[in-house]
Amino acid sequence: MTEIREGSDGWDQLVENLVNGGVLRSPRVIRAMKQAPRYCFLPERSIEYASMDTPLPIGRGQTVSAPHMVAIMNEALELRVGHRVLEVGAGCGWHAATIARVVAPEETPRTERGHVFTVEIVPELAKMARGNILRLGFGDRVTVIHGDGSLGLPDSSPYDRILVTAAAPEVPPPLVKQLKSGGILIIPIGGVHLFQSLTRLRKESNGSTIEEKLGGVAFVPLVGSFGHRI
Ligand code: SAM
Repeated sequence: MTEIREGSDGWDQLVENLVNGGVLRSPRVIRAMKQAPRYCFLPERSIEYASMDTPLPIGRGQTVSAPHMVAIMNEALELRVGHRVLEVGAGCGWHAATIARVVAPEETPRTERGHVFTVEIVPELAKMARGNILRLGFGDRVTVIHGDGSLGLPDSSPYDRILVTAAAPEVPPPLVKQLKSGGILIIPIGGVHLFQSLTRLRKESNGSTIEEKLGGVAFVPLVGSFGHRI
């Protein structure tokens, strides 16, 4: 297991900028961003750009999200200690690790910790994410699964929170089904690289959902059964 290297000036400055800009607000989410720096998860050729607030290539034509986007999504998810979270689109595993630091912090007894399940459809990326998660000591709090996350992960459902890190044409029905009553789902909805809105759904006790648009975004497309046909 490799120790997380905290304390890069560039990374600390980036987190500080996101705090000063009002993007990062919750102490637990801020701490998690500091304690799971993006550079630890990147392939060699992207590491030097880790502290730039942009998406970066992770191989197989995919990207890791920009830090401000991970911050926006983590704040919008209203994460709490103990939450069971499903992420669709593991990529390199970084976003899942930032969430694990919030829902399953080290100082919380194991029985009260939450868990992150993250699904990745590209086998090489699932392997990279799993390798990063194990190497950096998140293996007891994050499970990486290779598969089509547009179908959710029924065996481990229901989830308190679900996030999708790729843009879908519409909200995949299995994800709504696998969300707990009172749960929150965040998903970019829109076209392939165009006209996407970050969308937040809250599931009511009668199973209906209340939808909010949080702003325009640009994500890689969700593929698979409920994704784009590309
Ligand atoms: N969260 C990631 C990270 O921390 O690196 C970045 C995610 S990247 C923006 C979107 C990812 O979604 C890509 O790795 C892509 O292969 C994956 N993806 C697309 N469709 C998928 C699907 N149906 N199921 C699972 N993963 C999918």
